[in-house]
Amino acid sequence: MSTLTVTLCTRTPVYTGGVDGTMNRIHETGIIGSLRWWYEAIVRGLGGWACDPVSDGRCPDRDGNYCDVCAVFGATGWRRRFRLEVEDNTQPIWSPPAKMLNIRPPGRKRGWYLPPGKMGELTLRFIGEPRVLSLMASMLLFLEKWGNLGAKPQLGYGVFSIENHDKVQKWAEKWQWKVLGSQQPSGNLPDLRRFGFFQFRFSPSQPGWWTKVPGLTYVARHVQPLVSRHQVVPVSPALKNEWRFHQWQKSWGDARDVFGTLRPDRKRSRVVVSWAYAQGDSWEVRGWVWLPPQPLTAKHLWSLLADQQIWAQVIHSGSLHPKEPVSTPQELVQFLEEGR
Ligand SMILES: [Zn+2]
Repeated sequence: MSTLTVTLCTRTPVYTGGVDGTMNRIHETGIIGSLRWWYEAIVRGLGGWACDPVSDGRCPDRDGNYCDVCAVFGATGWRRRFRLEVEDNTQPIWSPPAKMLNIRPPGRKRGWYLPPGKMGELTLRFIGEPRVLSLMASMLLFLEKWGNLGAKPQLGYGVFSIENHDKVQKWAEKWQWKVLGSQQPSGNLPDLRRFGFFQFRFSPSQPGWWTKVPGLTYVARHVQPLVSRHQVVPVSPALKNEWRFHQWQKSWGDARDVFGTLRPDRKRSRVVVSWAYAQGDSWEVRGWVWLPPQPLTAKHLWSLLADQQIWAQVIHSGSLHPKEPVSTPQELVQFLEEGR
């Protein structure tokens, strides 16, 4: 058994829930859940087999086989190949910590409810076989660059940076991503070949730039401490509001399938966008989209997210760097390796 230690610094709040939703501490299960979700999307993207753990088709199959994901993360009759210990040195970003921050851009009655999150340092200790630890190191390097950790990525949570980069890199280099098969994307399960990513950078000359972001003026006294203490600004509601309610055309597809809905059944948004976080003198926002299977809807959605004008109008002028989806497992291997 070996140990891989990854020290993380949060860039946007981390949320891992809790039984009563108050989140007094970072839960290991929340971290593992999100790692598993990403690994499923990667395995499918590499053409491999990843079962849907909440369906009847979950592992093991009739012959007692486990998919590439369950082989690492476990399933009934097969234990997880690693143990995770979390050393939590994060603090709640507001108090009382159970409070929600309601952001209502102009025109919205309900708006978005941002749950409490925590920021600071987080140490993850993975204990297991070297092969599995190396895989975890590789995945965390990828997530540092493009993804999120924990729950509520749709609301902008879980962007992080790795403090002990060299060490994690060394672990990652012991192992390589490879094509796992020739399965095609199925449409209703996340597959990294259907994901587009984007990063937006801007350098405001005024410290109060964020007061002009739609919906933030009314909650300025709650946002100001987030800016001064944590260098974060919750811009995700303003962007989503613009994309969904001002830009999206009915003929492109059902907005609820793209941006999510609570009624009649809960549907998660396919669009994930972070809060803004300071990066030296400039600021950054990033996110990703899981494109829907309908080609026309996917095409319009991607051009919407990659439209720099909209970003400039909602937040500030800056530069947008979109990373279009890969189309083959081979291309995905390359993309994952670039993340190192
Ligand atoms: Zn499985």
